[in-house]
Amino acid sequence: MDCIFCKIVKGEIPCYKVYEDEDFIAFMDINPINNGHVLVIPKKHSELVSGLDKNILSKIMPLAEKIGSAIRKSGIKCEGMNFEIFDGKTAGQEVPHVHLHLIPRFSEDGYEHKYPAGYCDPNTRERLEKIAEQIRIAF
Ligand code: AMP
Repeated sequence: MDCIFCKIVKGEIPCYKVYEDEDFIAFMDINPINNGHVLVIPKKHSELVSGLDKNILSKIMPLAEKIGSAIRKSGIKCEGMNFEIFDGKTAGQEVPHVHLHLIPRFSEDGYEHKYPAGYCDPNTRERLEKIAEQIRIAF
């Protein structure tokens, strides 16, 4: 499979590794948003979170917390941290292999999310119960 992160897992292309176990590998993002930007990936390929095995799903957040704590302790400038997964191309996913970004943050670092027109629309609350019900029945 022509997946760049699978190639990192197999050692076919190099990475700046910070952690590895039987299920996961974590390495430095090649284009870091801030110093200490790490990607945590499951070794087994899945494009989307929904394709991950349940045991991998149950392990990824505890591992991300552990690596995030190491980043915080390392001395790298880190006043806060973003834990981000872009799930699908439309959500901003560029590499189609699940990866969780750990991005150290500090005030005025210039990293921003843009919000759509209509954000904070005063009519939003009227829609919330209807949408919540739509989601509840989909379980
Ligand atoms: P996204 O799919 O939008 O969540 O972002 C993919 C991320 O992978 C980007 O932040 C890239 O800088 C990073 N990336 C792409 N190729 C490599 C690589 N070979 N080694 C490390 N990071 C990479």
